[in-house]
Amino acid sequence: VENKKQDLNAIIKGILPLIATNATERDIELKVNLTEGLPHLLLNEKEIKQLLLNLVRNGIEAMGQQGTLIIESILEGDTVSLCVADCGCGICKENQEKIFDPFFTTKESGTGLGLSVCVGIVRRHNGIIEVQSEEGKGTRFIITFNALDAR
Ligand code: ADP
Ligand code: MG
Repeated sequence: VENKKQDLNAIIKGILPLIATNATERDIELKVNLTEGLPHLLLNEKEIKQLLLNLVRNGIEAMGQQGTLIIESILEGDTVSLCVADCGCGICKENQEKIFDPFFTTKESGTGLGLSVCVGIVRRHNGIIEVQSEEGKGTRFIITFNALDAR
C-alpha cells in the first residue's frame, strides 16, 4: 500500500459529489464541516474514499428515508480526526463490540464486511477507529490519524 503526504480535506471533497448523490436519492441532508489548514497526513486516497463511503453507506442505511448526515474533519494537537455521524437507529451496547468483526451484520442482505474493511484501512494508516452510539438517537464513527507520521 502506498501512502502519500496529502490533505484529508481534499480527499473528502473529491468524494463528496458521490456522497451527495447517495444522500439526495433519499431525503437526507448532508452537512460537511471541514477544519481549514489541516496538517498533511500519510494517506492512501483510494482507501480513504472507500472508508468514507462505507461509513456513509451505513449511516444512510441506518436513517432510512430521511435524516442528517454529518461529515467532519477535526484537528486536535497532533491528531486529525475524520467523523461521520448520523441520526439513525443507533447500535446497542452489545452489538457495538461486534460490529467490527467480519461478517457481523444485522441487515437482511448485509455482508457484514464494510466495517471490517474500514478496520483494515485504518490499521494500514496507523490510526484508530471508534464508535459512539445511542439506540434510537444515532451513531458517530471517529477515525483518528497522527499528523506526526507525515513529518
Ligand atoms: P453491513 O452494512 O453489510 O451490515 P458493516 O460491516 O458495514 O456490514 O456493518 C456491520 C453492522 O454494524 C451493521 O449490520 C449494523 O448493525 C451496524 N452498523 C454499522 N454502522 C451503523 C450505523 N451508522 N448505524 C447503525 N448501525 C450500524
Ligand atoms: Mg455496511
